[in-house]
Amino acid sequence: MGSIGSNLQEVRGRIERACAASGRDAHIFTQVPGPQAAHAARGVTLLAVSKTFGAEAVREAFAHGARAFGENYVQEALAKIEALADLRSQLQWHLVGPLQGNKTRPVAEAFDWVHTVDRLKIAERLAAQRPPGLPPLEVCLQVNVSGEASKSGVEPTELPGLAAAVAALPRERLRLRGLMSIPQPTEDISEQRRQHRRLCELLEALRAGGLALDTLSMGMSADLEAAVAEGSTLVRVGSAIFGARG
Ligand SMILES: *Cc1c(COP(=O)(O)O)cnc(C)c1O
Repeated sequence: MGSIGSNLQEVRGRIERACAASGRDAHIFTQVPGPQAAHAARGVTLLAVSKTFGAEAVREAFAHGARAFGENYVQEALAKIEALADLRSQLQWHLVGPLQGNKTRPVAEAFDWVHTVDRLKIAERLAAQRPPGLPPLEVCLQVNVSGEASKSGVEPTELPGLAAAVAALPRERLRLRGLMSIPQPTEDISEQRRQHRRLCELLEALRAGGLALDTLSMGMSADLEAAVAEGSTLVRVGSAIFGARG
């Protein structure tokens, strides 16, 4: 592994090559653009997943242009957001880890995005607890695309109902932006693509049903090329930027 700066360069290169290979606009966003941006669905946002790495690693990534960071563990993230308060207005913080009902309040207060909403109760709490002074919390619904019984995420059959209910929550508090998945890890590229294609099809079906969604949060260090090929608009990359987690 190189430095965080050179790793970031390498990951950006991988995204650009993956975009070029599938004829997509190779623009890399450092933060997810607002929902009005018509071009949003064409470029790819690079989310740097900084879980288990300290605030200094985030500062280093920031110095090399990263502006959106993903965290898994609420307590760890809150400490990091606090330690990086001086950069707060320039950063977008995304929760990509599981969210329990008793942790929604600090998340609603501190984060910009939550990718892992998989039941209405959580979305309702986040909407109710989002401070009125802040912009709406942007959320994705996590979908279980691999069908493993143990995986979190809403089942595809339950998705349309959940999406409609979440989209109906007060928009000034919470805005449904799209879908997220954590597929079953596999080195088989065609299987990676099949699982990513499934999420893309589910998003298309919701759009066809009238929901204005623009975000497909899929692809990690090991499978970002397959995800970009299948339409990902946001890749969540940890180890390829920060190194192996201890
Ligand atoms: C850890 C994590 C990532 C980043 O994984 P890498 O393989 O290190 O890139 C992305 N998404 C989620 C939900 C994660 O938990």
